[in-house]
Amino acid sequence: MKPVIALVGRPNVGKSTLFNQLTRSRDALVADLPGLTRDRQYGTGRVGGYGYMVVDTGGLSGESDTLDTLMAQQTRQAIREADLVMFLVDGRAGLCGADEMIAQELRGFNKPIVLVVNKTDGVDPQAVTAEFHRLGLGEPRTIAAAHGRGIQGLMASVRPLL
Ligand code: GDP
Ligand code: MG
Repeated sequence: MKPVIALVGRPNVGKSTLFNQLTRSRDALVADLPGLTRDRQYGTGRVGGYGYMVVDTGGLSGESDTLDTLMAQQTRQAIREADLVMFLVDGRAGLCGADEMIAQELRGFNKPIVLVVNKTDGVDPQAVTAEFHRLGLGEPRTIAAAHGRGIQGLMASVRPLL
C-alpha cells in the first residue's frame, strides 16, 4: 500500500491546486469559490521514485461545533484514512481563527501533521510564516502551489514521516 497524504485546511487556501501539483493532474476543481471540492478526491503521485496517494478534501470550516456538514465529515474520514496530514494555510490572508480551530481539531486525530503555508509568491516568506508558529505545529513549510514552487522540497522533507 502506498502511504496516504490528506490535504486539509479551510476553503480557498489552495488544497486542490496542491493536489493537482502532487498528482500532476487537472482533476481537482480549482476555483475562487470557497468550498467547491465537496467530495474526497484521490490521486497518486511520485517523487524521486517514491510513490504516494493524495486525498484532496473540501476542507474544514473551523466551525465544527456548530455546523457538522457532510463536507466536514468527509474530511474527517480522509484524515482517519491518512498516514500524514498536510494542513494548508494561506500566507497572504495570515493566521485566522478558523486555522486555530482546525489545528486544535487535527491534534485529536494523533496523525503526523505538516503545516504548509501556501501563496508565498511575491511576499517575504519569513515575515509571512512567523505568525503561524503560534499554531504549535512546528516549523511551517512554505510553498506557492499555483507556481509549483517549494513542492519538491516539501515532499523531500515529509518523506521520512511516511
Ligand atoms: P481550495 O479551496 O483549498 O481547494 O483552494 P483552490 O486550490 O481551489 O485555490 C483557491 C484559489 O487560490 C484559486 O484562485 C487559486 O488559483 C489560488 N491559489 C492557489 N495557490 C496559490 C498560490 O500559490 N499563490 C496564489 N497567489 N494563489 C494561489
Ligand atoms: Mg478545493
